[in-house]
Amino acid sequence: MFEKELEQIRALYRQGIYSPEFYSKRISGEECLLDYGAFTEIPFMYKQEIRSTTAYERTTAGKDEVYGIFSSSGTTGDKTYYVYSKKDKKVHETFVKAFYSELGIRPDDLGGVFAPVDTGVMAHTMMWQYTTMGAGYVNCPEPSPENMIEIVQTLPVTVIATRPNVVCTIAANPAFVEAARKSSVKKMLMGGGFLSEGRRRLIEDIWGADCYNMFGMSEMFGPMAGECRQKDGQHYLDQYLMIEIIDPKTKRPVKEGDIGIAVYTTLWDKGFPLLRYWTDDLMAIDRSPCRCGSKYPRLRYKGRMADCLVLDGEYVFPEALENCLMKHGFFLDYEARQEQGGIRVLVEKDPAQEVPEQMMQEIKEIFHGEAAVTFAAPRQLGYPGHGPRFHVSMGVSDRMDRK
Ligand SMILES: [Zn+2]
Repeated sequence: MFEKELEQIRALYRQGIYSPEFYSKRISGEECLLDYGAFTEIPFMYKQEIRSTTAYERTTAGKDEVYGIFSSSGTTGDKTYYVYSKKDKKVHETFVKAFYSELGIRPDDLGGVFAPVDTGVMAHTMMWQYTTMGAGYVNCPEPSPENMIEIVQTLPVTVIATRPNVVCTIAANPAFVEAARKSSVKKMLMGGGFLSEGRRRLIEDIWGADCYNMFGMSEMFGPMAGECRQKDGQHYLDQYLMIEIIDPKTKRPVKEGDIGIAVYTTLWDKGFPLLRYWTDDLMAIDRSPCRCGSKYPRLRYKGRMADCLVLDGEYVFPEALENCLMKHGFFLDYEARQEQGGIRVLVEKDPAQEVPEQMMQEIKEIFHGEAAVTFAAPRQLGYPGHGPRFHVSMGVSDRMDRK
């Protein structure tokens, strides 16, 4: 298992990329990289450890090799900075070309970047993805419904990169929906938030465009996996990225194809190498052939551990609630919270909107019984630019690993 990847990691080890103490305290010698069994003894790298070091304590990139410095959003703690090297930029371009050639992004496209101002890394990598394909771009750092519609009415934007919930905000306004459908936008690239099938259908309907799901994180460099035209899982370039799927309880690899926590190891001389980086991402890896003919495996992202509930030993993902809400015409933000008294669900809606009994019934089933559902006016939940999520505020033991 992972033989090819381990060979690459051994070569990187010999090259010295793990020489900073941050890595060398994990790998005492090449024997740690002998086979996958030995590799699984290397301690996971947690976000908290990254936070307690500086960007330059985690890199062997010389000052002349630095392309820029990335930072995390800082929404769950102190901001963290990462060295992003010139080599990383080249690898990023390889990823982008693999994903966007397949989707037909071309030099005559004009790309819209509808990323809120607080998503600095995302906006940057979205601009770079267009320029990598030779396409032009226009940036909309405050993607309100009015601003988005003004841009697509004024400019021949053909493709939009954004967070899923951002482009849904036009749904409540029929005039905006009409303008979006009449616009030249043909493709939507989603990143930075979970995309359920229900939300995808909504986006495709209100924009009259094909919607593709991308997956990424700032610790990597933005987009690290992307859907092909089949819209059935996100391909990733496994010559650059090794993904282990680990059971959050046993800390051992799950059975092939099962859901678990993604643990990432990067396979090039990255500015900030990831070595068994334990994230909060729940996913499964699918190595079966895709109808598109791609040689790359697919990941199926289920959401973040922090955003899912464990009820009667089963994962309950936001997708279940979101698909139900979307089906019944509730397009705004929502949250589900597990508290002492049980599950509390808060859903934003237009004050005039009727609540179907069927939907209430389905919500109860999703949460294995009783769930107290209340409704709030639009834009009461969340913080700007961030997608809806499950808030868990008590006793799920798996959460001990969340730093
Ligand atoms: Zn495919």
